[in-house]
Amino acid sequence: MPELQPMLARSRYCDEEWEYASSGSCDRELECGIYPGRIVRCGQPSSPNSFYRWCDEHDRDARDENPAAYGK
Ligand SMILES: [Zn+2]
Repeated sequence: MPELQPMLARSRYCDEEWEYASSGSCDRELECGIYPGRIVRCGQPSSPNSFYRWCDEHDRDARDENPAAYGK
């Protein structure tokens, strides 16, 4: 696994998010899940540059969408 950013505080994650992030996978919820009522998470490998351990694409989205809030 490449060197990833440190995890945020444990309280920032729900159990499922924690599992994804700590194992190096993107925990972003996909907007429209295939299964109604079930959260579908991205699951792509975490980007080494992402403070949230998201994949490159989701990390770029977050930086673009709200740069002031990024990393907070
Ligand atoms: Zn992602």
